[in-house]
Amino acid sequence: MSEPRPRIALYSLGGTIASTAAASETGVAPQLTADDLLRAVPKLGQIAQIDAVQARQVPGGDLTLHDLVAVAAQITQSFVDGAIGAVVTQGTDTIEESAFALGILVASPKPVVVTGAMRNPTLPGADGPANLLAAVQVASSPEAQGLGCVVVLNDEIHANRFVRKTHTTSTSAFRSPLTGPIGWVHEGRPRVVARHSPHVHADIAPATEIPPVALLKVGIGADSRLLGEILGLGYAGLVVEGFGGGHVPGSLAPMLGELAARMPVVLASRTGSGEVLRETYGFVGSESDLFKRGLISAGLLDGLKSRVLLSLLLASGASRDAIAKSFAEMSD
Ligand code: ASP
Repeated sequence: MSEPRPRIALYSLGGTIASTAAASETGVAPQLTADDLLRAVPKLGQIAQIDAVQARQVPGGDLTLHDLVAVAAQITQSFVDGAIGAVVTQGTDTIEESAFALGILVASPKPVVVTGAMRNPTLPGADGPANLLAAVQVASSPEAQGLGCVVVLNDEIHANRFVRKTHTTSTSAFRSPLTGPIGWVHEGRPRVVARHSPHVHADIAPATEIPPVALLKVGIGADSRLLGEILGLGYAGLVVEGFGGGHVPGSLAPMLGELAARMPVVLASRTGSGEVLRETYGFVGSESDLFKRGLISAGLLDGLKSRVLLSLLLASGASRDAIAKSFAEMSD
């Protein structure tokens, strides 16, 4: 008798992979259903028994952390019900954030594989079907157990902590500048060559309010006008993407210190790769000066991922000390 096919839960959230155009419309928009996506790749049925759920139907930029909290709860339930892995299809614009959020929200060694497409289904060389096939191959493989949430596109497997969208249109847009991919798909089989330690988990009930966190990138000659508005606008936290190893113009340092006394302020680097420094520079506005003023280091997380982590930790009710500890653990 042939082996039973593994059960995989598929959540379709929209994005380019699900986008097509009605004849009367200009441009494509998410309209293909989860079942449409499955029908486009008949081979999927040989690999797994797929339970498909149309969870959202939006461009990546319209997804919210609330949506991801809801999807994480559905994924967790599907694991309880016997799925050995989950696949999420969505707009690539926010995959680097949503995969990171799902990694924090789903506490399971079973794999959650996020994928999408750079070329929509109306274009020659559309990559959605190949990406979906590779995602299901990864999610249903014993090799993927213990990986947590990963991103699979262009036959590469990326850790959610490090992956970034680095190009507007290229099918190889997804890269992990700090580490490279942790594996790839070869002749339909995943090869995993690096495993990162499991990281922080946040338990958040679906109806929980997610406090707003601002993300501010500093540029040359940046002034303090935006910074001065953060508290008054009702933000509960701030992530600053500083220059290089974690620096801001000296004139901003006192105001950042004052803010850090009122809310968690996380210092990341705008470079998009490498770790924030701890103790190399000593000038006003340097990393060591900002830490003395109460800022929390993003460690090896970039600004986007820091904003997701801080938002979810605040939603889970974490104290400032617990937040600092979680950021440190993410970089362990
Ligand atoms: N370009 C995006 C995508 O690949 C659009 C979106 O994020 O929905 O899906």
